[in-house]
Amino acid sequence: MKKTILPLLLAALMLAHGTAGAWGFFGHRTITQVAVYELPSSIQAFYYRHMADLVRQSTAPDERRNDDPTEAPKHYIDMDHYSEDNPFGKMPRQYDKAVEKFKADTLKKYGTVPWVVMEMKDNLTEAFRSRDTAAIVKYSAELSHYVGDAFVPLHTTVNYDGQLTDQKGLHSLWESQLPEKYINDYKLDGEPAKYVKDPLAAIWDVLAQSYGFLGETFDRATKIEKVMKPEVRFTFSHKYGKTSRRYSDAFAAEYEKAVGGMVDYRLKGAPTLVSSLWLTAWQDAGKPDLNALMTPNKPSKDEKAKLSTELAAWKKNTLAQDQLLLAQQKVKKAEATDQIKSAQDMEAPAPADAAEAGTVAPAAPASAPAPTTTPATDKVKIKTKGKDGSEKVKLKGE
Ligand SMILES: [Zn+2]
Repeated sequence: MKKTILPLLLAALMLAHGTAGAWGFFGHRTITQVAVYELPSSIQAFYYRHMADLVRQSTAPDERRNDDPTEAPKHYIDMDHYSEDNPFGKMPRQYDKAVEKFKADTLKKYGTVPWVVMEMKDNLTEAFRSRDTAAIVKYSAELSHYVGDAFVPLHTTVNYDGQLTDQKGLHSLWESQLPEKYINDYKLDGEPAKYVKDPLAAIWDVLAQSYGFLGETFDRATKIEKVMKPEVRFTFSHKYGKTSRRYSDAFAAEYEKAVGGMVDYRLKGAPTLVSSLWLTAWQDAGKPDLNALMTPNKPSKDEKAKLSTELAAWKKNTLAQDQLLLAQQKVKKAEATDQIKSAQDMEAPAPADAAEAGTVAPAAPASAPAPTTTPATDKVKIKTKGKDGSEKVKLKGE
């Protein structure tokens, strides 16, 4: 079995997750915004003052993927490459130990997201120590991005786009189509930020949970495929002389019923770890007075009023219905501030679908409840094509 799957794995690698960017811009922006609401008041005013920049810069790591060949592997870790049987027990958590066991080149190939999260957290701590506002905003935003990526199940497998199981397009369906379309049904009221004693352990736990959701991510799509004809399943679009295929709205609606609870659970979980790591970096840096970095150094009446409206909506889970998510708005030309690195940042493509999300009739609420049990982390079902074209289902981990 290992032998027949190997060429497929290599083919998958060559694509190197090139087309799949986690959460889409909509998800990353939403995670970053909600993280601001979860902060304690001691640092919330500063973060709220810079919220628009934080949200905008949270997608920068995806935007530079095409220009920077070293960027892509920072967004994932293909755990099933290392072992089909409890890979989390085999992978050393510390980067140095992992290099000793698997070599740096291999780690780079199959993704380094847990260690990139640690690197961003350290950069942020340093930015707090040097009281550098632009760097605080930049590394807070980027930390949010990579933490967000770790919450996406498909960022933990070589079959990251369903390409090995004839489910190509699953990645953007899960992390873009569903949240953009069904955000009104999702709950975003996560937990308040807490100091994280062991950030490395925290991010590995997140990855293990993500990996545990892979079985359902693939299987529930397979279930729908069995009852939905291929011609109804996909929508084709033509762009730049290329035809691309994505899952249809009809498929998305069925998939939402099947996994919407899971998508929401991950979308809601991410901001809690993001805000907690922001808080941790600030505390580790000796709790610098962030108000002293603000000019004017106190929130205005207007800022206070806006924040309290947003906090109330966040607690009531009406941010999306009230059109208060920045991800729902077309990206505006921002005022020139020293935090904006280039005009490109401001002109980051606005998620057109997202901007229209408010006008879409609300869909029936997702029936799938948020998972309440800890997902299994040692088994992943993966389908491979046999030589004769027959499908073989294999339970990884057995
Ligand atoms: Zn990413």
